[in-house]
Amino acid sequence: MTKYGFLGIGIMGKAMVTNLLKAGLDVTVWNRTPERCTPLVDMGANQAQTPAEVIEACDITFGMVSDPEAAKAVCLGEHGVAQAMTAGKGYIDISTVDSDTSRALCQTIQGKGGRFLEAPVSGSKKPAEDGALVFLCAGDESLYRDAAEPLGIMGKKSFYFPEIGQGAQIKLVINMVMGTMMTAFSEGLALGEQVGLQKSDILEVLAQGAINNPMFQLKGPLMAANTYNPAFPLKHMQKDMRLALELGEKHNQPLNTVAAANELYLKAKRNGSDDEDFSAVMKVIEKK
Ligand code: NAP
Repeated sequence: MTKYGFLGIGIMGKAMVTNLLKAGLDVTVWNRTPERCTPLVDMGANQAQTPAEVIEACDITFGMVSDPEAAKAVCLGEHGVAQAMTAGKGYIDISTVDSDTSRALCQTIQGKGGRFLEAPVSGSKKPAEDGALVFLCAGDESLYRDAAEPLGIMGKKSFYFPEIGQGAQIKLVINMVMGTMMTAFSEGLALGEQVGLQKSDILEVLAQGAINNPMFQLKGPLMAANTYNPAFPLKHMQKDMRLALELGEKHNQPLNTVAAANELYLKAKRNGSDDEDFSAVMKVIEKK
């Protein structure tokens, strides 16, 4: 039986491992804050003390941590993934990072004889709970094939791109669109309120037209009720906007609306909304 590892038991990691365990897979978990593994251990997961221990115990290991710095720390740091990597084993980084980070991880893992796949996900907490994520994979094709079972349990669809870095890039393109959609949506709701319209009326009219979408449907009523429990933490959205802007700069692509939206997410971070849902950007847009 293939043994799977999972590093990073945050909002997404917890939901994804829960589905792997429910499907009967053998999973060993690790998290920087070990207590967060307890509910998964209660469901049957093994818990390791370091990422290196997970790699030693498993054939294929997934990493799902915050940002490029965290992805590097877990993979390249002391007692990290690379330290225990050997020929034939696989490491799949599903965190949202920039393509340079992904390439650096790939090079190190391959240097140890291991196989590397980047596979950032499209979808949030609810799709993770429902096993309905979309994986944007690039890298080792044999690892992509060998990981078909867990990818199929955690997700509804997987894409494979031949060149390492392309998964990371498409993820940033998608998220910068999402981030700017959210600030435009918030501005619309805020202006509506300023002129005396009801948010519920705006949402109802919007739902009938061409700009209706699942994100507005899901977040709109919560925003109207000032509820910002994190599904996708705002600090991660700002990180993705920053990484998209860096990619744009590298390729001489102006990203005017992304840059303007990023300023609002920065302001929201400064106002203490890091760990709220990214829709809490509304708070720095509306008059209170
Ligand atoms: P989260 O709940 O904030 O969890 C972050 C995880 O990263 C935690 O396990 C945390 O460990 C770990 N971590 C942070 N810094 C670390 C470090 N230096 N060393 C080791 N571990 C570290 O985040 P999430 O929502 O699950 O998101 C995880 C990744 O998926 C991010 O890249 C995010 O952009 C991406 N993503 C999120 C969503 C979403 O809707 N939430 C959707 C798609 C993609 P501790 O518990 O010790 O803090």
